[in-house]
Amino acid sequence: MVDLPTTARAVIIGGGIIGCSTAYHMGKLGWTDTVLLERKKLTSGTTFHAAGLVGQLRTSANITQLLGYSVELYKRLEAETGLQTGWKMNGGLRLACNEARWTEVKRQATTAKSFGLEMHLLTPQEAQDLWPLMTIDDLIGAAYLPTDGQANPSDITQSLAKGARMAGVKIFEDTPVTRVIVEDGRIRGVETPFGVIECEKVICCAGQWTRVLAGSVGVNVPLVSVEHQYMITERIEGVTPGLPTLRDPDRLTYWKEDVGGLVWGGYEPNPKPWAVKGIPEGFHFDLLTSDFDHYSQFMEDAIARVPALATAGVKQLLNGPESFTPDGNFILGEAPELRNFYVGAGFNAFGIASGGGAGMALAEWVAKGEAPYDLWPVDIRRFGKVHQSTDWVRTRTLEAYGKHYTIAWPSEEMQSARPTRRSALYGHLQAAGACFGEKLGWERPNWFADLSVGEKAVDVYSYQRPGWWDQVRREHLACREGAVLIDQSSFAKFVLKGPDAAKALNYIAAGNVDRAVGSLTYTQMLNARGGIEADLTVARTAWDEFYIVTGTGFATHDFDWISRNVTGNCQLVDVTSGSAVLSLMGPEARNVLALVCPDDLSNEGFKFGTARRISVAGCSVLALRVTYVGELGWELHMPTDVAVTVYEALMEGGGVVNAGYRAIETLRLEKGYRAWGADIGPDHTPVEAGLTWACKMKSGVDFLGRAALAAQLSGGVKKRLAAFTVDDPSVILLGRETIYRNGERVGWLSSGGFGHTINKPIGYGYVRREGVDEAFMTSGSYELEVASERVAARLHLGALYDPTGARIKA
Ligand SMILES: Cc1cc2nc3c(=O)[nH]c(=O)nc-3n(C[C@H](O)[C@H](O)[C@H](O)COP(=O)(O)OP(=O)(O)OC[C@H]3O[C@@H](n4cnc5c(N)ncnc54)[C@H](O)[C@@H]3O)c2cc1C
Repeated sequence: MVDLPTTARAVIIGGGIIGCSTAYHMGKLGWTDTVLLERKKLTSGTTFHAAGLVGQLRTSANITQLLGYSVELYKRLEAETGLQTGWKMNGGLRLACNEARWTEVKRQATTAKSFGLEMHLLTPQEAQDLWPLMTIDDLIGAAYLPTDGQANPSDITQSLAKGARMAGVKIFEDTPVTRVIVEDGRIRGVETPFGVIECEKVICCAGQWTRVLAGSVGVNVPLVSVEHQYMITERIEGVTPGLPTLRDPDRLTYWKEDVGGLVWGGYEPNPKPWAVKGIPEGFHFDLLTSDFDHYSQFMEDAIARVPALATAGVKQLLNGPESFTPDGNFILGEAPELRNFYVGAGFNAFGIASGGGAGMALAEWVAKGEAPYDLWPVDIRRFGKVHQSTDWVRTRTLEAYGKHYTIAWPSEEMQSARPTRRSALYGHLQAAGACFGEKLGWERPNWFADLSVGEKAVDVYSYQRPGWWDQVRREHLACREGAVLIDQSSFAKFVLKGPDAAKALNYIAAGNVDRAVGSLTYTQMLNARGGIEADLTVARTAWDEFYIVTGTGFATHDFDWISRNVTGNCQLVDVTSGSAVLSLMGPEARNVLALVCPDDLSNEGFKFGTARRISVAGCSVLALRVTYVGELGWELHMPTDVAVTVYEALMEGGGVVNAGYRAIETLRLEKGYRAWGADIGPDHTPVEAGLTWACKMKSGVDFLGRAALAAQLSGGVKKRLAAFTVDDPSVILLGRETIYRNGERVGWLSSGGFGHTINKPIGYGYVRREGVDEAFMTSGSYELEVASERVAARLHLGALYDPTGARIKA
C-alpha cells in the first residue's frame, strides 16, 4: 500500500530518464508540488539497458543546444546529488569511408561551428591515434567532438531522481497510473490502485507505453517499439577507459568502452518491430531474446573495423525495446488535443543524450506555458491525422530506423507508407511525369520529368547538383517567363467563423485583417515575446468569416495556436481535405485564366491582395491574388470535386507548364519570401526578420506581441535576417553554412538553395550581434563556410529578383 497525496499541481507518469529529468527540473523551477508515479521501479522500462553514448550534434541549432545542456548537467550532477552518474567526457569520433559521407561529415563540422560546438576534422591516422584498435585502410577522414561522452543511464536517472527529491518532488514506485481522469474535456487527475490524485497538469513520460496511455484520453503520440541490440564483449587488450565513443555510419555501427571491453551496436536496414499486439503485462527490467542471426549481418563489417573482435569473448548480446518515431526525432510539448496534458516520449535511442535537456525544456513548458526556445523539430504539433494510424506510424518508423546511419541526402524523401493522402489531381500529375514528395501524408509534386524525351520521375540525390536540377530550372524559368500550374492542395486551410471572428483574429494577427470583405492579408501571428508562431494568409470571405491558409506541415501547429488564442464567439474549422488548391503563376497567368474565366481579371478589377469568387470552367472558385514565387498569379481554392475540371480547363489552352515544390523553393529564395520553421519561427520577430512592414504598428490597434515589437523598434535587436549570394554557381548551399563578417563568425544560414534566374546560390541567415543594424550589416565583407571551406559572399537586404514588386502587381 502506498500513501499517496490526494492532490498535486502536476503529476509525472513514468520514472525513466525523461520523467526523472522532468521531475528534477520541475523542482528547480519551484514546482515542488509535483508527484512522479512509476508503475514498477525507476529505470525499469527502457532506460536501464541503454548503451549510454551521449552525442550532441543535430541538424537544428536549438536541439543541439538542448543536447549540450544535457552534457553541462551531467558534468555537475554528481557533485550536486552525491550520486554517481558514470559521466565521462571522452569525446566522440565519426568516420567517413566514401566521398559523399566525407562531404556529409565536413558539412556537419561546419554545422557544429555554426552552432558553437567544437568539432575537428581528422586524417585517418589521427583518428587511429585516438582509437588504436580500428583499421583505417578504407577511411577518408573522421570528425572528432571532444565534448561528447558517455554515461551510466541508470545512475544518471537515480541521480536526477535524488535531485528532484532534494527539491521536494515526491516520487512513488510500484504505483501505476491506471487512468487519466478527464471530465468535460479537462484534466481532473490520475487514478492509481492506491487512490486518485487530483491535479492540474499531467506530464506523460511513459516511454513506449505512452502511445496507448495518451491515446486513452484522445492524445495522439506517434511512436512504436522496435528491437535494438548491442553486444558486450569481455575485456580486450588495448581498450582503455579514455577511448572515445565511435560511430562508423558506413558500417552502420557504434562503439564505446565498457569495463575494459567494448559495447557495440548497430542500426540494421531490416529492423524488427516489437509488441505489435501490445506490450506484455508486467514487462519491467526485462530484455528480449537475443537474436544472433539477425545481428550477424553486422559481424563481418564490424570485425573488419575492429579485428580484435574476432577473438574477443562475448558477455551478452543485449536486445531491448525502445520507442522510435516516424521522423527519428522525439516528441515534446503540450498535446494539441488536450490542454494541460504534456508529453515527453519517443526518444529513438538517444534518450540518454537528450534526457537532461528534454527534461529541462518540458518542465519549462509546463511551468511557463511555452518552450524555453523554438523546439519545432521535436514539437508534438508537427504530426497530424495521418499519424493516428499505428500501421502508418510503424511502417514509416521502421524506414526511419533503417536510415539512422545512412547518408542523409539533401531533400531526401521517405519511401514507405506511401501514397496515403492524394489530391484529386494525383493521377493527372503522375501521367504528366510528377516526381512526388511527401509531407504530413500528402503526395505532392516536387518536380516533373519530361516523359516524352525519356526522363524518369525518380530523385537522384547528391551533395553536388542533384538529379532534378535541370527539370526544376525548366519549371523555374517557365514561371518567370510564361505560366505554371502547381497543385498545392495540401495547404492547411481553416475557416474562422462567428460574430467575434474579426476582433479575435485581429488581436492574434500582427497584420491588419479587420478590413473589407474580399481583402487578403499576409500576416504573422506572434507570441508575447514577438516571436513568429505562424506565418499565413487570411482572406475575409464575409463580415463574420475568414479563410486562413498556411503550410502543409503546420496544420496541427497553426490550428492549435489559433484555437487556443482566439476568444469570444467564433469557431475554427479545419477544411483542408475539402478544399483543393491550384496555383497559377507567371506573367502569362492572367491570359491563361481569362480563357476559361468570364470575370474581370484586370489589375483594376482584381487587385493584388484581394480574394474573390470567380467562375473557372463553370466551377465556383475562391481566387486569392497572392504569390509565394514572386510573379503575377492566383491561388485558386475550390471544392476537391471540381479540381480535375478546373485543372483540365487551365491546361487545355496550352502554354501552361506543370511545376512542383522544388521550383517553389528556388523561386521564393530569389524573391526573399521567408519560410516558417527555417528563416522565421518562435525565436525570431518580424523586426529581426525584416517583416515589420507586415505588422500594424502604425495603427493604434493592440495585438499579441505588439509591445515586444515596439521595444525592439526603439531599443534595437541582436540579430537581423539578410540574403547572401555567392558568385560561383557551382557552390551548393543547403542551410546551416557559417556566416563570417570581416573574418568573424556572426551566424549561420537558415535556408540555402539556388536562384535559376539570377544563376547564383542563395542563402538566408541572421547576422547576430548586439545592436545590429543596416549600417553594420552592409559595411562588412562576407564569407560563407561551406563543407568546411570558405567562399566569398555578398549580403543583400532586399529581394534578389524584382525588388520593387512590379511584376507581381502588374
Ligand atoms: C539497446 C538500447 C541501447 C540504447 N543506447 C542508447 C545510447 O547509447 N544513448 C542514448 O542516448 N540512448 C540510448 N538508448 C535509448 C534510451 O534508453 C531511451 O531513449 C531512454 O531510456 C528513454 O527513456 P524514457 O524515460 O522515455 O523511457 P523509459 O525508460 O521506458 O521510462 C518510461 C517509464 O514509464 C513507466 N510507465 C509506463 N506506463 C506507466 C504508467 N501507466 N504508470 C506509471 N509508470 C508508467 C515505465 O515503467 C517506465 O519506467 C538505447 C535504447 C536501447 C533499447
